[in-house]
Amino acid sequence: MTQMPITDYDRQVKNCSCSYCGNNCDDITYLLKDDKIVGVRHACRLGASKIINDEDQRLLNPMIRNKEGILKETTWENALDKIAQLLTNSVRPVLYGWGETSVEAIKEGIKIAQITGSVIDNQSTICHGATIQAFQNVGHPVMTLGAVKNRADVIIYVGTNPMDDHPRHLSRYTTFPEGFFRPNGREDRTIITIDPKYTNTAKVSDKWISYDIGEDYAFFNTLRMILAGHEITDEEIAGVNIEILYELVEIMKNAEYGALFFGLGLTQSTTKQGNVDVLIQLIEDLNKYSKWSMLPMRGFFNVNGFNMALTTETGYPYGVDYSRGYPRYMVGETTTIDLLNRREPDFFMAVAADPGVQFPGYTIKHLVDIPVVQVDTHWGPYTELADIVLPSTRVGVETKGTAYRMDSIPLYMKKVIEKPENCHSDQWILSQIYNRIEKLKQENGDN
Ligand code: SF4
Repeated sequence: MTQMPITDYDRQVKNCSCSYCGNNCDDITYLLKDDKIVGVRHACRLGASKIINDEDQRLLNPMIRNKEGILKETTWENALDKIAQLLTNSVRPVLYGWGETSVEAIKEGIKIAQITGSVIDNQSTICHGATIQAFQNVGHPVMTLGAVKNRADVIIYVGTNPMDDHPRHLSRYTTFPEGFFRPNGREDRTIITIDPKYTNTAKVSDKWISYDIGEDYAFFNTLRMILAGHEITDEEIAGVNIEILYELVEIMKNAEYGALFFGLGLTQSTTKQGNVDVLIQLIEDLNKYSKWSMLPMRGFFNVNGFNMALTTETGYPYGVDYSRGYPRYMVGETTTIDLLNRREPDFFMAVAADPGVQFPGYTIKHLVDIPVVQVDTHWGPYTELADIVLPSTRVGVETKGTAYRMDSIPLYMKKVIEKPENCHSDQWILSQIYNRIEKLKQENGDN
């Protein structure tokens, strides 16, 4: 189907940042008519669908669930007072989500966690948590996406499919654009996909290497052994002919600037953190021969911003527990899924996230039995569980704010249109909750 260009608009705003995936494309043009976004330029289909289609299932008023189990509209005062009361009286509150809101809102969330002794956690607990642990344990050679665009001649994707999940990653940063040292764009680069699946990214790569599912560690450790000069006598490792592995090591050794991106296909496979550890070691080994760096493909547009903000505040990236009055971080102990599986939380608030989509079924069961709050822009499966719902605004469209791209570059996100009348930004909502809790504590003489 051919898409018709949009001509019926009266204003355009350039250099907006897309608030969908961790690419944080900041070259988007919004086309407006009568102060509504009627079209976008430069965004991919995922970003465009999020920016334009905002009215379907939009949450527009605060709601509280009544005794009959029906969500009924209420006032902001009533909903905020109720949440402050619940949080103040709870023993094991959990504040979860944050991947799709601004750093400014996240900072308000951390303040609430501190004053209420909550656990504060984000989507890393179910996605790149293993990566962050490995990075904190071992360290890793970093890079910016700008450096990749201008310098990289060998790009490897491991266990990730950006053609479907981060659609402009190849066209904006790694494969197709002209770079300062790569003036011929695609022709100057070798793209390799390493993935058990033949993905859409594999289809546009120069080379696709598939290995047996669950054999990630063996695959990458063998590359290290070959690089170190060991002779491998096996004909196959992880289901891959050894000649292919020798050939891959030669390509990597001879790169002028190598960039490796990896995704959940690696971190959620058997041995999880161990896979990232061995990948980091491989990249370190390669730096004896050439320049190599690595980055995880982060999903939500500010999932990285939460890790940055919480690490700045506490030294820990996610799953931080303030119940003892100071921050503690123990994966498996203070992380959301584990807390819910042990049925510990007695209050749960999700901000800019939908646990109804993201969590396993058993984990969700506990949410049915405790007070649950949703702060979000749209109706979703989690709304069906929520006792109190607060309608928020879209960062980068209706609210300005800061987000961290997957390579940890902070980007300013503009406010372009007015918010729906009775919605408020996450930052405003959370600061209102904080103020109410502080007041309640003062009244109770509890400081
Ligand atoms: S690649 Fe990601 S950030 Fe860029 S336009 Fe698409 S969804 Fe938005």
